[in-house]
Amino acid sequence: MKNQKKYLELLNTAAAGKVKLNVRQIEALLSPPDEKCEQKLFEAALELKRELFGNLVNLRGLIEFSNICKCDCLYCGIRKSNRKVTRYTMSETEILHSAELASQFGYGAVVLQSGERDDVQFTGQVTALIKKINAVPNPPAITLSCGEQSLKTYRRWVKAGAKRYLLRIESSTPELFNAIHPEFTTLAKRKAALRRIRRAGFQTGTGVMIGLPGQTLKHLARDIKFFRDIDVDMIGMGPFLPQQDTPMGNADNSPETIQRRFKWALRMIAVTRLVLRDVNIASTTALQALDPENGREKGLLAGANVIMPNVGEVAYRKDYQLYNGKPALDENGKNIRSALLKSLRKIGEEPRWDSSGDPIHFVKRTAK
Ligand code: SAH
Repeated sequence: MKNQKKYLELLNTAAAGKVKLNVRQIEALLSPPDEKCEQKLFEAALELKRELFGNLVNLRGLIEFSNICKCDCLYCGIRKSNRKVTRYTMSETEILHSAELASQFGYGAVVLQSGERDDVQFTGQVTALIKKINAVPNPPAITLSCGEQSLKTYRRWVKAGAKRYLLRIESSTPELFNAIHPEFTTLAKRKAALRRIRRAGFQTGTGVMIGLPGQTLKHLARDIKFFRDIDVDMIGMGPFLPQQDTPMGNADNSPETIQRRFKWALRMIAVTRLVLRDVNIASTTALQALDPENGREKGLLAGANVIMPNVGEVAYRKDYQLYNGKPALDENGKNIRSALLKSLRKIGEEPRWDSSGDPIHFVKRTAK
């Protein structure tokens, strides 16, 4: 009883948004003493989300345009050393078709995601693509998710007309970051890249994986503080899901662990909403992978306000398996759209049609 009362008091303080919470308080918020308190947490986050954005959800069409990658992250299915995937890059025609589809679907924005490459051929291709997408009728806003690049490249992409960039920090705790990346990938480099992204003028997004081996709620509380400290506009985070053809493929994946990852992911969305408030938060595909029926819906009900339905070519989907159990492997964009609309309706949310959906946080920080 006592714990419950204390938790609800802290939750009220967080929801009011007048106090800057410290890591200890953020960790406490991430650790509701019972299910009832956990439910209250989700409700408070949803209430704040609806206060800020109404019952609207921003949609971004996801285009996984290439799986060629120079990195070797120990968890990722498209890591360089995984010889089991067939490497592909969608043709420009295919990518433009996907972007037009997103626009016809009323999504208002696309996310171009790929493995990481920084050779001139690749960076030039992306620049050309951005320009061409901006020339389609009723062009969708462009978000990029193509890894660490130089300031020059980021600037070039902004100049070509891309608006947003997503680069997950994966974990802001050095030991944890080092445990899941090869030595030449460092947290310091990743942080520096995020700073360049912001400097280049992008609406800046980051995020973490949740439920990594050895990760605790304290680590995750520090991640939320990190998001606040670097003043991001967008967050995308989801449960870690072992991928069989990677060095982390044997990580514990018992039903209890899966359940915990899922719960923690929802709590992370809710607490991030309460702490960062007016940022865009995605309910990610990885949540849907753990609960195909209700995963993404639960993310929205825990305070997320963005969904990224796939609009890419079905033929490539099987070669973009970052993790096992990725949903909608053989669904085309149209079927994904109608399923999504149905599930939004079920939870009383609506798509925000034809809107680029800029994060309020970005609009405010650049108006200053
Ligand atoms: N190359 C780009 C983005 C591609 S991967 C970049 O470096 O930013 C996009 C995200 O998928 C990664 O940032 C990571 O957080 C997530 N991801 C990769 N493997 C995963 C796994 N096994 N489980 C859950 N998420 C994973």
